[in-house]
Amino acid sequence: MPALKTRKKRKKALRPKTCKFCEDAVKYIDFKDVETLRKYQTEKGKIHPRRATGTCPNHQKMLAKAIKRARELSLVL
Ligand SMILES: [Zn+2]
Repeated sequence: MPALKTRKKRKKALRPKTCKFCEDAVKYIDFKDVETLRKYQTEKGKIHPRRATGTCPNHQKMLAKAIKRARELSLVL
């Protein structure tokens, strides 16, 4: 019988499980709103995963599009 793999449990960072865009009833995330977009990116410009920010699927999709648009215009990394 093969030995069972032991996996270390990683501690999850505590974060609120609410979508900030839903709270503010945002219908469209503006790609020109650089400050907001930056909050959802790492230092290197990667988009934070949903599990880290608590953004809902709808808004995460919008956010990703907005960030990608802003990238093309060199507004964000
Ligand atoms: Zn949302």
